[in-house]
Amino acid sequence: MSTPKRVFNFNPGPAALPLEVLETAQAELLDFKGTDMSVMEISHRSKEFEAVIQTAEADLRELLGIPANYKVMFLQGGASLQFAMVPMNLRLAGASADYIVTGSWSRTAFKEATKLGTTRAAANTEKESFKCLPASLDLDPNAAYLHFTSNETIHGVEFFTEPTPPAGVPLVCDMSSDFISRPIDVSRYALMYAGAQKNAGPAGVVVVIARDDLLERTPANLPVMLDYKALAASGSLHNTPPAFAIYIVGLVLQWAKKLGGLAEVEKVNRRKAELVYKAIDESGGFYRGHAVPEARSIMNIPFRLPSEELEEAFAREAKSNALIGLKGHRSVGGIRASLYNAMTAAGAEELVKFMKEFQKKNG
Ligand SMILES: *Cc1c(COP(=O)(O)O)cnc(C)c1O
Repeated sequence: MSTPKRVFNFNPGPAALPLEVLETAQAELLDFKGTDMSVMEISHRSKEFEAVIQTAEADLRELLGIPANYKVMFLQGGASLQFAMVPMNLRLAGASADYIVTGSWSRTAFKEATKLGTTRAAANTEKESFKCLPASLDLDPNAAYLHFTSNETIHGVEFFTEPTPPAGVPLVCDMSSDFISRPIDVSRYALMYAGAQKNAGPAGVVVVIARDDLLERTPANLPVMLDYKALAASGSLHNTPPAFAIYIVGLVLQWAKKLGGLAEVEKVNRRKAELVYKAIDESGGFYRGHAVPEARSIMNIPFRLPSEELEEAFAREAKSNALIGLKGHRSVGGIRASLYNAMTAAGAEELVKFMKEFQKKNG
């Protein structure tokens, strides 16, 4: 078999998947586990699919160390639907919810929650152009929950230590873009959610991990497809789940386990990010990172060049060197390198080599 031609994929999401995962999916496509059907063509109530979803959950529990009193759900509607489901389920009647706003995604989560009830910003770093983490938090001791976004995919700021909510206030996290990128202490969170298409699989499935007692808050009149309690009770099988997406997430989890677990995954992620930040810091100001050093994400690295013309040329020439997906988000501009789990160290090294050559030519 010849090695397939692959690019170095720095896309922010949907994003690169491990080659091994794609090869397994390819090998199993026409005949999934002796069924003579693909996994897309079997019943979601068959024993074969039951094994897929149960193994994915067990592997996720093992990788993240999820305690027994938490439910794992594989849902649809992306992280964006969670922006609504979180307040619908967790904000008890009359209560207010606190949000830490550190970038585009947490700002959107905050706005969605505001449509549905009382919402407060416990911090907002928009005036600082979302370059940093908040210096302090203004926390409501009676909040229904405290929501934060562990990694801001567009602005490239990441929390490496969870904010501490007041006693008894559940901590809720949008973990879409740094999910399974490093070990975390799940017991510090009441609920977390992550769209799979950044680090954990393809678009179409969002993973929700919720502590049992939170599910008791769900109001009785919620439509079932928005109801955590009902969805958890059905084992994510109330209706037809995104079976293929869940299958791929399962393969990604097995791949992460084979790498040695999340401590090993984090080591590689840190090495890749260090390489790119070093190239930025040693460029004498030619490349300028968006985030302040203390808040730098190891997943998404947005940076600017001296002019928009140079930024366009950078993205264009990178592409012709098989370095794909480096154009920054339209709201921030510039360049963004997304270095999710599936990006290899070799990919980060190629990017750094290209950055140095580009600067030599244009600096
Ligand atoms: C991509 C992303 C989202 C939106 O995810 P969808 O699955 O497209 O709804 C939300 N939050 C963060 C942090 C993201 O990176």
